[in-house]
Amino acid sequence: RAAATPQYLAGLNPEQREAVETLDGPVLVLAGAGTGKTRVLTTRIAHILSQGRARPGEILSVTFTNKAAREMKHRLGQMLGHAVEGMPWLGTFHSIGGRILRVHAELVHLKSNFTVLDVDDQIRLLKQLLQADNIDDKRWPARMLAGLIDGWKNRGLTPAQVPSGEAAVFGNGRGGKLYAAYQARLKILNAADFGDLLLENIRLFREHPDVLRQYQGRFKFILVDEYQDTNVAQYLWLRLLSQAPSQSLPGLTRQSVVSPEDGSPGLDASRRPGDDALTKNISPPKNICCVGDDDQSIYGWRGAEVDNILRFDHDFPGAKVIRLERNYRSTGHILAAASHLIAHNEGRLGKTLRTEDVDGEKVTVTGCWDSEEEARGIGEEIEQLQRAGEKLNEIAILVRASFQMREFEDRFVTLGLPYRVIGGPRFYERAEIRDALAYLRLINSPADDLAFERIVNVPKRGLGDATVQMLHEIARKRQIPLSEAARAVVETDELRPKARGSLRALLDSFDRWRVQRETMPHTELVEIVLDESGYTEMWQKDRSADAAGRLENLKELVRSMEEFENLQGFLEHISLVMDRDGGPDEDAVSVMTLHSAKGLEFDNVFLPGWEEGLFPHQRALDEQGRAGLEEERRLAHVGLTRARRRAKLYFATNRRIHGSWSTTIPSRFLDELPAHNVEITESKGGSGWGGTGGYGPSRFDNVESFGSSYATPGWQRAQANRGRGGFNEAGTPYNASRSKSKHAPLTIDGELVAKS
Ligand code: ATP
Ligand code: MG
Repeated sequence: RAAATPQYLAGLNPEQREAVETLDGPVLVLAGAGTGKTRVLTTRIAHILSQGRARPGEILSVTFTNKAAREMKHRLGQMLGHAVEGMPWLGTFHSIGGRILRVHAELVHLKSNFTVLDVDDQIRLLKQLLQADNIDDKRWPARMLAGLIDGWKNRGLTPAQVPSGEAAVFGNGRGGKLYAAYQARLKILNAADFGDLLLENIRLFREHPDVLRQYQGRFKFILVDEYQDTNVAQYLWLRLLSQAPSQSLPGLTRQSVVSPEDGSPGLDASRRPGDDALTKNISPPKNICCVGDDDQSIYGWRGAEVDNILRFDHDFPGAKVIRLERNYRSTGHILAAASHLIAHNEGRLGKTLRTEDVDGEKVTVTGCWDSEEEARGIGEEIEQLQRAGEKLNEIAILVRASFQMREFEDRFVTLGLPYRVIGGPRFYERAEIRDALAYLRLINSPADDLAFERIVNVPKRGLGDATVQMLHEIARKRQIPLSEAARAVVETDELRPKARGSLRALLDSFDRWRVQRETMPHTELVEIVLDESGYTEMWQKDRSADAAGRLENLKELVRSMEEFENLQGFLEHISLVMDRDGGPDEDAVSVMTLHSAKGLEFDNVFLPGWEEGLFPHQRALDEQGRAGLEEERRLAHVGLTRARRRAKLYFATNRRIHGSWSTTIPSRFLDELPAHNVEITESKGGSGWGGTGGYGPSRFDNVESFGSSYATPGWQRAQANRGRGGFNEAGTPYNASRSKSKHAPLTIDGELVAKS
């Protein structure tokens, strides 16, 4: 049969092939980075189709990002040598959930043209509800509630299922009630928020078993990438879909599938809200194939549960677990460094990874004086790579926090080096940065109507659409800018007193800021503006997951202004940055966060900012226990394993975080790299300090004399560790086995479902 082996199977190793060809029954591919998990999934779809086992529309394939879904579609076309007619259901959990929900919207009291609310709409709606309930939104900000609701939805909890203890944390026990009111309001508005795309879909399946059966019947094959990062809601949704439809579900009445009434679903790790009559005793399970890597679980902070992957055996009895051990992506040194680093985590399954590739270049570690030198150094290295014939498309900069991007983006604009930001807007295009810039533009130019409109009611100051509408009319009639119209209107009684007062206060503020601009440095001015306008405070009160990042970005904005003489110069620079935009095909450096780099690969990967407090992030360090730190380490591992041929780590000894300079300690993760695979190099960033052409960590003595009380003990330890090989800081051998305490046996109703 060898001759008949289809082309797409030819290059696979035996384990990969097994994963592709085992079409019947559940399959879990549990394997490290770069071992071909995603490739296996894509090939599996090709195989299913070419074997005629299912039509495209009978295959459900879930990816973590939309980009990954597009990539998979593209690869599939290549593998089959023709475009697939009628595409598989290929997308993220939310996009597929949304698609199903539209078809059956009426059943969950929506219309098929329902709107998907963005965060702003969501906040506005919640504010109204708080007002109606006389809840002080200073004390209990709408954004906090939004964050809570989002968390509940990630865990698959409907309002009735939110444990009372958790509902109590908001508005003196009114959290659950508000969540319910919010859901009711969404229905009236014919709207759903992002989390609903999945949650309402789950409800639909639970309350309408006939609909569920229809989809169970349709999807003959289910495939899931990045399974380690699924949250409870996604898990429930998958479990519902992955049951065989032919079985008449025993005891499945409407009654029994509605939410379990035990009061605390999801709280106790041993019980899941889906572990009810619906998913029990039903066999055989579907042809589901999940692939993942526990060492790459990096979305715990967003409710992902790595335990899902550990419970696969139980959820899908008879599952075949396949391990892939050959890494096809990275050269020897990079893989060794990454494997050694992740071995410092206790809570892991542990796995072997080998490469048959050459050792290649060692992982480099470069110390810089500050982040500016870091950006310069990396810029320099990139130009060097470019001269050596490397494609910019094969170069990526992966940062821990989005604020770090700013310095690189500015540097690239200066160098004329094309770049693109992946997985998010460019720094100056982020919402919070645009808001702040709008304030500055309006100070600079009172006639800037776009800026005026953007911030007139941000933060909310009671100047809603009606007011803006009125200003527009006046402005149009008299051919004047909006801010002048505003000036005219506050002299009349056209606005209600409250709005008038608020508008007058805003105009007064701008007058004051324009005067201050003449006498104070622009960096000071911007702080005053963000402060007095209430803009910073708006984000400080925000409890959503990204609020802290936004505040960091605002600080970084202030910092970026230092490089310009005055406000005018800065704003001109911004318009230049905003202006350049290559097409998608342009050869360009990719800049992104480590989180959005998941699943991707590049020949050359730069990893800046490996410093304590930044990476691992302070939030993780402040956390009790090891969980936060271990997630950071997995993130570092994800970063390193993105690299095919070169991985280049950087740290700066001085960094401005949260607005003030501090001397930093190189990341403990640098300590944890194996000396044999690492080379310490000097920064090419120029000036450096003491005129010595950059601080290289090879000059440790200088660091001491530099007078910092921190004196980079990390790197001194690193030196010492080099002799000690496989021992961690405490002097104990690395323990690659899973910690017992974290993974105590899981039981459901006394039944053992996962061994530790
Ligand atoms: P990650 O965990 O980072 O998502 P992965 O396990 O999904 O990694 P892939 O992205 O599928 O790994 O594969 C990594 C690289 O190795 C890709 O470039 C892929 O094309 C290549 N590769 C995988 N299997 C083979 C093979 N059998 N022969 C040659 N190249 C392979
Ligand atoms: Mg992958």
